[in-house]
Amino acid sequence: MSGPQHENMFEKIALIGIGLIGSSISHAARRGKLAKSIAGSARTPETVATAKRLGIIDEGFATAHEAVRGADLVILCVPVGMCGPIAAEIADVLEPGAILTDVGSVKAAICKDVAPHVRNGVHFVAAHPVAGTEQSGPEAGFAELFDNRWCILTPLPDADAAAVEKLSTFWQALGSNVEIMTPEHHDLVLAITSHVPHLIAYNIVNTATHLERVTDKEVIKFSASGFRDFTRIAASDPTMWRDVFLNNKDAVLEMLGRFAEDLAALQRAIRFSDGDALFKTFSDARQVRRGIIQAGQETAAPNFGRPKDSK
Ligand code: NAP
Repeated sequence: MSGPQHENMFEKIALIGIGLIGSSISHAARRGKLAKSIAGSARTPETVATAKRLGIIDEGFATAHEAVRGADLVILCVPVGMCGPIAAEIADVLEPGAILTDVGSVKAAICKDVAPHVRNGVHFVAAHPVAGTEQSGPEAGFAELFDNRWCILTPLPDADAAAVEKLSTFWQALGSNVEIMTPEHHDLVLAITSHVPHLIAYNIVNTATHLERVTDKEVIKFSASGFRDFTRIAASDPTMWRDVFLNNKDAVLEMLGRFAEDLAALQRAIRFSDGDALFKTFSDARQVRRGIIQAGQETAAPNFGRPKDSK
């Protein structure tokens, strides 16, 4: 957590992309007084204007190139596929000694796309805060988003140790716990814990709504029986998730193969009325949920802590 020793640890942070994650970084950095000033740019002038109005940024710019001038920390908070092109755009204005980082949900592809544009003296350290919601845009951000969540740093082998240390301290001051791993390992872990679950959610929501014998009305009316929790995940931003799957193909396909095998085993257990197999599978899965609650990554309150009267 942040303390007086982290006050103004950066002179100027530049946020390239000011959506859920960019704006949450700003709120948490302001809470910890981690920077003297925060600048930002986005794709549209509307987002920049909203971010200024909400006090998320002190200065707004139309381009990343202008926003990063004089920044000692530059954070790319844009969809995964945009990190490479933006790194190319800002390459010649990044200050020597500046730290360049990102928040993308995929790491190997971003490292491959960004690293070639990083000049000598600029320190590139990729990162992924494993925290989010299904909301997007500058109004969706809040200071507590990263509290007690993990932020994974994936520095390349030749990364500057002091820059890795400083970025790690920054994420801890934003409220996160920090873990360091290779980009490839990150992508494998996140494929099963985040990417494939999102794909399953998108798929099941569409399967249910396409069923001809179940009207849309029934899908909504009886959604509290399980479907509703998938719809929350499936409400996530389509651009962000398109880029995740385009950029983490191998790991996602590997995990989907395993998922399909396990699903086939369950299908078989149902077909042959193998109650013991079903009971064991469900019991094992239930233990995982308990582990997540014990690790403080979820509430034990019934129904995800929703109020009793929420339908
Ligand atoms: P978001 O709310 O949709 O915000 C995306 C931001 O990027 C917006 O400000 C958008 O500008 C800007 N942007 C899009 N295309 C751009 C371009 N071509 N040039 C400049 N700016 C551009 O998305 P987010 O949820 O913050 O996600 C941002 C990154 O965080 C993604 O890489 C994602 O993988 C990662 N991430 C997301 C989550 C999550 O749960 N959402 C969690 C962890 C990490 P406009 O508003 O003007 O379009």
